[in-house]
Amino acid sequence: MSQLKVYNTLTRKKEVFKPINPPHVGMYVCGPTVYSDVHIGNCRTIVSFDVIYRYLQHLGYSVRYVRNITDVGHLENDSDEGEDKIAKKAKLENVEPMEVVQRYTNGFHEVVEMLNTLKPSIEPTATGHMLEQIEYVQAIIRSGYAYESNGSVYFDVEKYSEKYNYGDVSGRKIEDLKNNTRDLKGQGEKKCPLDFVIWKRADPKHTMQWNSPWGKGFPGWHLECSVMSTKYLGDEFDIHGGGMDLKFPHHECELAQNTAYSGQSQSVKYWLHSNMLTLNGEKMSKSTGQFFLPKQIFEGTTELLEKAYSPMVVRFAMMQCHYRSTMDLSNDALFAAEKGLARLKKGLESIDILKDGDQSFLDVNLIEASLESAMNDDFNTPVLVANLFDAVKQINSSVQNEKPITQEDRQKLKGLFDVYVTQIMGIQLIESSKSSDDSKTIENDLIQLAVDLRNQAKKGKDWETSDLIRNELTKLGIQLKDSKDGTKWSK
Ligand code: AMP
Ligand code: ZN
Repeated sequence: MSQLKVYNTLTRKKEVFKPINPPHVGMYVCGPTVYSDVHIGNCRTIVSFDVIYRYLQHLGYSVRYVRNITDVGHLENDSDEGEDKIAKKAKLENVEPMEVVQRYTNGFHEVVEMLNTLKPSIEPTATGHMLEQIEYVQAIIRSGYAYESNGSVYFDVEKYSEKYNYGDVSGRKIEDLKNNTRDLKGQGEKKCPLDFVIWKRADPKHTMQWNSPWGKGFPGWHLECSVMSTKYLGDEFDIHGGGMDLKFPHHECELAQNTAYSGQSQSVKYWLHSNMLTLNGEKMSKSTGQFFLPKQIFEGTTELLEKAYSPMVVRFAMMQCHYRSTMDLSNDALFAAEKGLARLKKGLESIDILKDGDQSFLDVNLIEASLESAMNDDFNTPVLVANLFDAVKQINSSVQNEKPITQEDRQKLKGLFDVYVTQIMGIQLIESSKSSDDSKTIENDLIQLAVDLRNQAKKGKDWETSDLIRNELTKLGIQLKDSKDGTKWSK
């Protein structure tokens, strides 16, 4: 059996995965900042680590998977200055910050569930760990790597660099960072522009603030992940994951904090980073307005896609890209994934109609080895999918040429689909292709039929019928919007 190899951002190479304390594995992944609806890009990162979580469990590891919810301290533009993203939204909508947090946490849970991701073992929040964060800051001050300045506490990057290497995660050089740093507002409080805030003083107007030894304030965004990861996984743990965009400054600062706190520079054994979901080659992002909400895709309510695609099709499209490669979301990619999924399902069904025999024409062990080696090669799902398609080709050819299979191999082959498609890739084949996709298409066609009938009635000035159809559709949660280009409907 081949061994699992993972690409470690820290060493920039693939390494054999050896957990610190087998069979236990500790994995921490940065979760969302819950100030708005998650877009499908955010979901890709969650799905990537869901597959990693599933595969580690498949290998027999007992995994403690911690994924946080950021509910305070993440400031605009990911910087040390500016408004807190959640407080800003709360002000805008005139609601409590915790109302914003609850609403978008619920929304996040709903979509990642639709994408069939497993729940983490622990989902801690930053506001739920205020005491631990204050104590952590105190410990870093005691170890000499942080200083208080005007009610805020900063991490002393230059001091840290005398003993450790700031830049290990992102591969950046401290000298380059210094040369590239522009003067920032508030920098007067810092000894060096590279220093980052770990506890920030809150002015009286700031809605989210807590008492601390340095006055009223709130924790820095990087601090919460250091505190919550080490609290639940220990000062040294196996895997830290997140999107590539978090390597710097977020993960760089996290590593520095961990090291300053415990004196242990190997706090994380493997740093894993998943790549971005793009739209027309650009990173999907709320700030540029270039994004899709998952539900827009599932319900087919975006003009950029020709039709609706089910969560399983979207998830399968994600499997067809390696987690470390960018993935461009397009109608073509989703359409191809839909067809691929149907092919896979047909292949699974065809196993049942293979002819019985004393010998197998298919080498099931070879197929198994190809699936396993794909996943062991840094969770290479696109190769896994290609190998599954290859198996389907062999199954179809055996059916066509009436080649036999033994009962034992038949069961084993079906088992491989269950393990690699359902359990590891998290793709529910049965539900996805026939029942849910087909019934969705029929449902959409029926709605369109009702809309057409209403428009016909309107044309014939049969207002009673047209109003009746519209009202009945509204009751079913379907809204109609008339424009000069025709009638559009949405759920
Ligand atoms: P945020 O809410 O911005 O803190 O991001 C939450 C998570 O989503 C982080 O792990 C990011 O790396 C990830 N993320 C943000 N944008 C994208 C994208 N376009 N593609 C993939 N992951 C993303
Ligand atoms: Zn984080």
